[in-house]
Amino acid sequence: MAEQQKQKKPRGKARVISGKCIACGARCQSVCPVNGVEMSEQGEPIIEAQKCIGCVKCVKACPAGALEMFYTPEELAIIASFEKHGGEEMDEEEVERRRRIAAYRGVWVFIEQNDGEAAKVSWELTGVGRELADQLGVPLSAVIIGSGVERLADLAFSYGADQAYLVDNTVFRQYRTEPFLEVMCRLIDKHKPEVVLMGATGMGRDLAGAVATRVKTGLTADCTSLGIDGKGNLMQTRPAFGGNIMATIMCDRFRPQMATVRPHVMPMPQQRPGRTGTIIHESCPICESSIFTRVLEVITEKGAKDKVDVAGAEFIVSGGRGLMAKENFAMLEELAEELGGVVGGSRSAVDAGWLSQDRQVGQTGKTVRPKIYIACGISGAIQHLVGMQDSDAIIAINRDSDAPIFEVATFGIVGDLFQVVPALTARVREMKSRAAA
Ligand SMILES: Cc1cc2nc3c(=O)[nH]c(=O)nc-3n(C[C@H](O)[C@H](O)[C@H](O)COP(=O)(O)OP(=O)(O)OC[C@H]3O[C@@H](n4cnc5c(N)ncnc54)[C@H](O)[C@@H]3O)c2cc1C
Repeated sequence: MAEQQKQKKPRGKARVISGKCIACGARCQSVCPVNGVEMSEQGEPIIEAQKCIGCVKCVKACPAGALEMFYTPEELAIIASFEKHGGEEMDEEEVERRRRIAAYRGVWVFIEQNDGEAAKVSWELTGVGRELADQLGVPLSAVIIGSGVERLADLAFSYGADQAYLVDNTVFRQYRTEPFLEVMCRLIDKHKPEVVLMGATGMGRDLAGAVATRVKTGLTADCTSLGIDGKGNLMQTRPAFGGNIMATIMCDRFRPQMATVRPHVMPMPQQRPGRTGTIIHESCPICESSIFTRVLEVITEKGAKDKVDVAGAEFIVSGGRGLMAKENFAMLEELAEELGGVVGGSRSAVDAGWLSQDRQVGQTGKTVRPKIYIACGISGAIQHLVGMQDSDAIIAINRDSDAPIFEVATFGIVGDLFQVVPALTARVREMKSRAAA
C-alpha cells in the first residue's frame, strides 16, 4: 500500500534582521541544536540556511529580536491552509474528507406513516430535531414518503419543520424496505443532510439500518438523548453494557449522522397550527414491476384491538417482584382502573410469568412517559429506570427505604404495598364519588 503523504506544517528558516543585532555574546549560537549559526568578527550571527531545521530556538533566545523566521510563498500558502483547518496537521485524504463532510447540511426527520396516519414518534423527533437544527443554525426538514400523504407536511410544519421533502406515489402506499430505501438514499445523495432521525419502531429500525449501510455511514439505535457538541457533531446518547452506563456515541467522520429514538423517549412538542413551511415535491422513478416484494394482504395482529398500550398510557400502575404472585396483580388492576390507566411491570414480573412481555417497562421493554407512574414493589434497577424516569410524576411504594427507585420518585411511600395499594385505591374511589356527588 502506498505510504500516505502527510502534509507537514512548514517550519521555515531563521534569518537575521539587519541592524538589530546587539552582539550579546552568541546566545543564538549556543542554543542551536544543529550548529547552524556561525558568528562574524563583529559578533553577529550568520545562519546556515541549509542546516537550519526551523526549531525557532535562536529566535526565542535573541534578547534584541534580531532574528525571525522566513517562509517561501509556497510555505506561506500551506500555512494559510493549515490555519483554515484549525491548525491541525492533515493529509490530503483528511482535507478531502472534511470538505466532503462540510457539504452536508440540515436536520431531517423521517415521518413514519401508516395509511396516511403519522406515528407519534415522528412528531416527538420533529420536536428534538427543531432543537438540533436551531443549535446548528440549519433548516429542519421532514421526509414524507407515501401515497396521498401531502397533508402530513402541514402537520410537520405545525410541529416545527421548515420544509418537507414529499414523495407521493401509489408505489409507496405500504411500507416495503426496497422502495423506501431507494428513495431515502436518492434524497440523501441529492440534498446531503448532516443528521437523519427515525423512530426506533419496526419500520424505522428496518429502514435506518438499510439506509446507513447503503450510504456507508454510522447509525446509533435507541438513543435516549441527542445534542450537538462544540464542533457541530451529533452527540448520540444511549444505554450501553446492559444499561449499566450511558454512552455518548459520535459519528464525526461520516455523514449523515443517523440515529433512531424509541417512542415516548422525547417529549411531544407543542403544536402550532397555522405554522407554514415549504413543500419540496420529489419524484422517484421506481415502478411496481421493479420491486421484488408485493403486499398481498395486510393481516391485523390477532387481539391487537384489546392489547394494552402501555407506552401510550397516561396512568401506569407497575408491579415488580415485590408483588410475590400473579394473582396479586388484580390489586394493581383495580387501582389502574380507578385512575383510567393500565398495569405495567418490571422484567422480573414478566420473567416470573405474572405479566405479558408487552407490559414490560424498561430497557428491553417499553419506554413510557405517563402523567403518573406508580411503581409498586420495584427496586429501581437502571434498566427499569431508563424506561420510566421521564414520567411527569413518579410515585414509588417500597418497603425498603434505600431502594434506588426513591432516587427518581416524585413521591415515595415506604411501606408494605399490600397495605398501601388498597388504601390508595379506596382513597381515589372516595375522591371520585365525592366529585361526582
Ligand atoms: C440487559 C438487561 C436488560 C434488562 N431490561 C429490563 C427492563 O427492560 N425492565 C426491567 O424492569 N428490568 C430489566 N432488567 C432487569 C433489572 O436489572 C432488574 O433485575 C429488574 O428490574 C428487577 O425487578 P424488580 O424491581 O421487580 O425486582 P427486585 O429488584 O427484586 O425488587 C423487588 C422490590 O420489591 C420490594 N418489596 C418486596 N416486597 C415488598 C412489599 N411487600 N411492599 C413493598 N415493597 C416490597 C423490595 O424491597 C425490592 O426493592 C434488565 C437486565 C438486564 C441485564
